[in-house]
Amino acid sequence: MKYHIIVYGCQMNFSDSERVCAVLENIRYKKTSNINEADLIVVTMCSVRQSAVDRVQGLTEKFEKLKYKNHKLQTILTGCVLKKDRKIFLEIFDYIIDIKDIKKISEILNKKIIKNTDNYLDITPKYSSKFSASVPIMTGCNNFCAYCVVPYVREREISRPTKEIVFEVKNLVKKGYKEIWLLGQNVNSYKSGKTNFPALLKTINKIPGKFWIRFTSSHPKDFNSEVIAAIATGGKITPYLNLPIQSGDDKVLKNMNRHYTVKDYKNKIKELRKKIPAICLSTDIIVGYPGETKKQFENTLQLFRDIKYDMAYINKYSERKGTAAAKLKDNVSVVEKKRREKALNEVLKQTALENNKKFVGREVEVLVDSKKGSRQFGRTKEYKIVEFNSLAGQANKNLIGKFIKLKIVDATPWKLKAKIK
Ligand code: SAH
Ligand code: SF4
Repeated sequence: MKYHIIVYGCQMNFSDSERVCAVLENIRYKKTSNINEADLIVVTMCSVRQSAVDRVQGLTEKFEKLKYKNHKLQTILTGCVLKKDRKIFLEIFDYIIDIKDIKKISEILNKKIIKNTDNYLDITPKYSSKFSASVPIMTGCNNFCAYCVVPYVREREISRPTKEIVFEVKNLVKKGYKEIWLLGQNVNSYKSGKTNFPALLKTINKIPGKFWIRFTSSHPKDFNSEVIAAIATGGKITPYLNLPIQSGDDKVLKNMNRHYTVKDYKNKIKELRKKIPAICLSTDIIVGYPGETKKQFENTLQLFRDIKYDMAYINKYSERKGTAAAKLKDNVSVVEKKRREKALNEVLKQTALENNKKFVGREVEVLVDSKKGSRQFGRTKEYKIVEFNSLAGQANKNLIGKFIKLKIVDATPWKLKAKIK
């Protein structure tokens, strides 16, 4: 029996899919990249924006055709599925399985009733990369930001036992993994027994071996001096931080239920830059939140000029039924949302270029991750993409998954260019 898996969404969805693959392969399914030869199709979906939901609905016709050819084909939907969307998705999929129940896939496919679900994060995933692994440290979210469905689809925060996380990371390092991503919706509120997030970082940092530790996401209200100190003294913890601000306007932040002000955020960045001068920063933004005026948007633009981000994930507000913000009128037009997105991108492009130019002439360590012909790519510890060319005679040398030293010779907003030393 063969299965095909489709993943839409964030790093957590990808990580969950790796556990789905492990469970299926345990019950002797073999993975296929060819959807036409699959006996089972699993879709891991995201519900954060309507566009992701639309994409899953867009599979209807394809599934009908495949089922016409293969009557035994079964389809499963999992990941972040909103309760209110289940009815429409049951018209497309044979089963909707809560991600926490994936250990029970076999019973579900055999139409047995499933009982009490246990910890699904202890499933050893079928890691899709041989050098970079995602390790969830918690699931769920308690924050209820007004626009967000995550607390509804993932329920309340549960932190994974420290021992289990350390065991997984140790095994990965032993196998030669070079990059470990610690995942959670709000990693800063990790708490298991006496271990909080900074303590967890310190414990993982002590694991012997050469590897980089990265983490995402951080909520600014919980990001504090203790986390900064852990990064600063860590050694393996990389100087890169994604700290989503969502808006540069205090009134909008209050409406979003974010529990910090622009000033609080800027103070944290100030401390961070003082203690870790090498830090590179990215953020998440929502443009066109209900009621966001041009003036309020200007404050976000100003914030971008002030902070000088290296990267930003700019999202156009998407109304999600059932959230607090859905009660407000989605009154910023699509055209205006696009304009705001573009304006922020313009500032970002300039600040990213300015920041990247500082790398020119420097020797950096790069973890190589991909190759296109003679062009190879990797990332620095600051999460900067680096492109370099294989030297003559080295074209076939496989550097993927290895750390190498490179000299930066040029910079663009989104990429550094380098030479092999
Ligand atoms: N836990 C993370 C975010 C997870 S969702 C945090 O608090 O930062 C990832 C990103 O999707 C968010 O940062 C936000 O910018 C975006 N997002 C969430 N809900 C959205 C919505 N309804 N419309 C548009 N973007 C949204
Ligand atoms: Fe969503 Fe806010 Fe939780 Fe992030 S912290 S997942 S944005 S509710």
